[in-house]
Formats: sequence, C-alpha cells, structure tokens
Amino acid sequence: MLGKRTHPAPYSHPRIPPLIELACKCGGLITCTHPVNSEGYSDTPEGWWLRTAEDRSFTAKCNKCHFSKKNLNYFEVVQIGPPYYSASVGLDHIWGWNKEHLETIIQYLHGDPITNRWLGYMRYVPGKWKAISRRSTYIKAAKKVLKNN
Ligand SMILES: [Zn+2]
Repeated sequence: MLGKRTHPAPYSHPRIPPLIELACKCGGLITCTHPVNSEGYSDTPEGWWLRTAEDRSFTAKCNKCHFSKKNLNYFEVVQIGPPYYSASVGLDHIWGWNKEHLETIIQYLHGDPITNRWLGYMRYVPGKWKAISRRSTYIKAAKKVLKNN
C-alpha cells in the first residue's frame, strides 16, 4: 500500500477522466470506467472530463479478485484505492489517473508537446514535479512503475 494518498487538485474540482486505474487491496488492478460518450463528456484534446459530481455512471472492477461496484460518482471512485500507476519520490508520489495519463505526464516533463486528450490535464501537474532540479527523478520513478506494471 502507498499509505495516505496525496492527490493534487483533481479531487477538489470536477475534472476527472472516464478511465481511472486504481490499486486493489489484493494487488490487482481496479479499472473504473465511465461511458465516455454520454452527455457531459468530451473526448477531445480540449477536454476529457466529468462535468457533474452527480453523475453516477462509473463501474469499478478488479482484474484479480471479486471486487466489483456499479453506479459510482467520482468522489466514490477515488476513495476505492490509491492510483495503480504511482511511484514514491522521497515523501511525494508521482502518479497518473491511468497508464496513458502517466505516460503523457512523462512526455510533458520531458518538454514534448502534448496533443492528445490529456492536454487539459497538464495544467494540474504539480510544480514540484516540473522543478528542474527534481524533474529527472520524477521521470525515472514514473518510467519504472510503467515498466514494472
Ligand atoms: Zn482485487
């Protein structure tokens, strides 16, 4: 377990992607999905997020054990467990909502242009991840977690 989560801003505002990958207590991967094309979602570089906290369309399912839940809103989803794609960096963590998100964060920290649907999320990448003095440490940790999972 990762201990207490230290998620940045996304938890306090309604900007959450329709695919969230969390770690299960059993060690498995819990995939939380929302029907992307339902009303209120945009699957474009301009936005890939939930517009209303009242939306209870998420389904969560573990790939190893019997954990399964339906009709969740995003507050309930984020309480299920820590991000699956997360790595410790000192007392901090680098993490992504899912594999694709963490891969995109690595590109972003490298200074590569982001043109995919995660573009709007890059404004929430914490400043400490971007700090020139520590950026390479975060990138290394993120690459390792992607390689091992
Ligand atoms: Zn499980």
